[in-house]
Amino acid sequence: MFDIVVKGGILPDGRQADIGIRGGKIAAVEQLPEGVEAGEVIDATGDLVSPPFVDPHFHMDATLSYGIPRVNASGTLLEGIALWGELKRVMTFEEVRDRALAYCDWAASMGLLAIRSHVDTCDDRLLGVRALLDVREKVRDYIDLQLVAFPQDGVFRDATAWKNTVRALDLGVDVVGGIPHFERTMEEGARSVRALCELAAERGLMVDMHCDETDDPMSRHIETLAFETQRLGLQGRVAGSHLTSMHSMDNYFVSKLLPLIAEAQVAAIPNPLINIVLQGRHDTYPKRRGLTRVKEMLAYGIRVGWGQDCVRDPWYSLGTADMLDVAFIGLHVAQMTHPEEMRRCFDMVTGENAAIMGLEGYGLEPGCTASLVVLDAGDPVEAIRLRPDRLAVIAKGKVISRQARNDARLTIPGRPASVRRRHHAPGT
Ligand SMILES: [Zn+2]
Repeated sequence: MFDIVVKGGILPDGRQADIGIRGGKIAAVEQLPEGVEAGEVIDATGDLVSPPFVDPHFHMDATLSYGIPRVNASGTLLEGIALWGELKRVMTFEEVRDRALAYCDWAASMGLLAIRSHVDTCDDRLLGVRALLDVREKVRDYIDLQLVAFPQDGVFRDATAWKNTVRALDLGVDVVGGIPHFERTMEEGARSVRALCELAAERGLMVDMHCDETDDPMSRHIETLAFETQRLGLQGRVAGSHLTSMHSMDNYFVSKLLPLIAEAQVAAIPNPLINIVLQGRHDTYPKRRGLTRVKEMLAYGIRVGWGQDCVRDPWYSLGTADMLDVAFIGLHVAQMTHPEEMRRCFDMVTGENAAIMGLEGYGLEPGCTASLVVLDAGDPVEAIRLRPDRLAVIAKGKVISRQARNDARLTIPGRPASVRRRHHAPGT
């Protein structure tokens, strides 16, 4: 007897199997007999059944605030930071909490069930921190929310940021963040990386820094981050987010940098939606793409995941909580068009991101947490192409979202009555 059986789905590796769920765990992944007893049966025949989507880089304290108190007219990172400073002065605990909970509803409906959110610690009230700690508790039955203490205005540049970042960690924020390229000088940026990594090492925490989110080829804080990771024995627990300056760096320097990042087991989190619009704003033509060197890092065995970063906030006016949008744009900007590369883009918004966040019990094997999503697609690459409806979402053993299949109805004489844009090339 199972609580739920998901029948006939296609797993990301191409196997067709039923999934039996019992007591919040996956109990069976195999061909189950016809008529097997279950509290609920979900027919997923021919549909992709995937572990949940994971977003390793988000800003939940700012989400759904677009237009408050005004929009970002220049579209730059720096105007976004200034605008966020204006919003911070007028926002309330309840507003931040309610916007975050509304976003979590979007995420739940899209099968996005684990999110690492940075939360601004440059605030003597720690209002965003307290609101998101509350949200982390409220959503824990369906979303794993991991919080990063993020000194948005610079941990040394802002007078009380160090003290408030430590206070946030004392309150239970999970990960140490930073923004070295926004400190006043390169030297101070490097010093911030060192100090924040030492803080993480003392407390046994992970590190995830906004790092080199600039087109300046001389912004090389990722080098310091990798060095400090090795020096402090933090291998496998550190991520560098954005890393866009690497796009513009000298090739010789990069040939020395990539092995260092690989040795230090520092993961990379590019955020293609936001960086394709934020970067290159000072360029005429040619205009840089603003994405780090994804394929080159993968070739070195560096773990790379796609992050979403922003939805409807001072930096980014669009966004849907769909990690397949992120994979889709990332695939284009990084030119990951080989079938194996396209497939990799799906892994980068599921298993790779889960590994970056250190999630336990993630996956579709017996014994894993029973969280999964049923998609109206036949395989991972088709899922990226269609970014289809999530027909069912299961979180920790409970169905939390259902959506009816919604094929278009055609009224063209001589053509089929309905159309679904699924398409399998022969032999794939
Ligand atoms: Zn960010």
